Amino acid sequence: MRDLSHDQRHRKLRTLARAAEYASVEEMLEACTEAATVPAICTEFGCSHTTRTDRDADSARCEACGRNTVASAIVLAYFA
Ligand SMILES: [Zn+2]
Repeated sequence: MRDLSHDQRHRKLRTLARAAEYASVEEMLEACTEAATVPAICTEFGCSHTTRTDRDADSARCEACGRNTVASAIVLAYFA
C-alpha cells in the first residue's frame, strides 16, 4: 500500500465505509471482526477502487489502476 498520512488513511477508511454501505467506519470495523474477507480500498492517490480482500491484505492488486496498492479496512485502521 502507499505510505499514507494519518489523515489520508482516515479519508480512505471513510470512503471505504461509504462504498461498502456502512453508516460509519466504526460500524464497518465491527462487522470485520468475524468475517473471512473484509472491505478493502486502493491506497493509490486518485484511485478509490473498493473490493473485498483477506483480512491482512496490504498490497492486493487493484483492478482499476493495476497497482498492488489495495489494503483491507483492518490494515488501514490498525496496522498502517
Ligand atoms: Zn487503484
